Amino acid sequence: MASRLHGIPPTIFAEMSALAVRTGAVNLGQGFPDEDGPAGVLAAAVAALHGGANQYAPGPGVPALRRAVAAHQQRHYGLELDPDTQVVITTGCTEAVAAALLGLVEPGDEVVLLEPYYDSYLAMLQVAGGVRRPVTLRSPDFRLDPDELRAAVTPRTRFVLLNSPHNPTGSVLTRAELEAIAAVAIEHDLTVITDEVYEHLVFDGSEHVPIATLPGMAERTLTLSSVGKSYSLTGWKVGWATGPAHLVGAVMAAKTWLTYTSGAPLQPAVAVALDEHPDWPRALRDSLQERRDLLVPALVAAGLPTTVPQGTYFATSDVSGLGWDDGLAFCLALPERAGVVAIPAQVFHDDPHGPGRHLVRWAFCKRPEVLEDAIGRLAAADLRA
Ligand code: GLN
Repeated sequence: MASRLHGIPPTIFAEMSALAVRTGAVNLGQGFPDEDGPAGVLAAAVAALHGGANQYAPGPGVPALRRAVAAHQQRHYGLELDPDTQVVITTGCTEAVAAALLGLVEPGDEVVLLEPYYDSYLAMLQVAGGVRRPVTLRSPDFRLDPDELRAAVTPRTRFVLLNSPHNPTGSVLTRAELEAIAAVAIEHDLTVITDEVYEHLVFDGSEHVPIATLPGMAERTLTLSSVGKSYSLTGWKVGWATGPAHLVGAVMAAKTWLTYTSGAPLQPAVAVALDEHPDWPRALRDSLQERRDLLVPALVAAGLPTTVPQGTYFATSDVSGLGWDDGLAFCLALPERAGVVAIPAQVFHDDPHGPGRHLVRWAFCKRPEVLEDAIGRLAAADLRA
């Protein structure tokens, strides 16, 4: 394996899903729903398959989907985008992240990012030769400390890589936190790359604010998202990058050599999702909030203090009260102890012995009966170290 991939462990999500299959445990690890997205959208994909949409799509994506993404940004956030120059369709947001980092980051550029961070950020930053400067969201509140953010910026910093709603903590950056980030970005002339795949999954009436909507930010922000989380179509791997043409153009330049174009028959179906099923994510959000409110109290009752997430479909618990100092050890023991799989959050931190060592993430995007099953198993188990 080439040195540019040295030290990057295999993704924890595959490892823990394999563990769930091997042990027959309830998989609350990898975040994927166990129900399909809207039937009309599935039907549109079938129609596209039978209707001849089986050869290469245009490089930047099929025009109907680029228009639908632009219309989505307009409808929800008032952002005006030219679908021809300011939208590119990617193979999931993961490819958008990869293409953004490969297309924009020079070797040695410093990138400020929120820790815990999604694992692909780390891998692609390393491949791009970028240097990460983590700013930690600390348990139990997972708020951003603007002073820590300022302290992370050096003369070599060129980017801020954001993720809100935030995986794994479930924290949603407030307008005040985003304003603090925007002030730093403008003062130091930084470009913001923001992964907003959980944009529609925010709870308790709170609001997701895209940083691109703040004054002075549209021209320096590349916004990434996808259909996967909003429409329970994670396996479709259709995502997008939007923003100023020079940033989208850099994503497009890298994307051309990664995948050339993304899956042709799924793209018109995703346009149908965005254009014709605009309320579907809201219903998903409401049902996820109910499922959150089922799982979180049960985790607390099992002896695991758990932060109530404001968004995403993940909740994070502290396992130290049960005598565990190491979330990975807890997660490796859990299938045998309780027949449940979770994700250790320490793997999303630079220092595995640092602030995330005792944190564990649970996915609640499962049918209520599956969550009830997991809750029963956790309640019956001896979870002490
Ligand atoms: N986004 C999913 C999660 O956080 C995992 C996707 C993946 O397996 N890479 O659980």
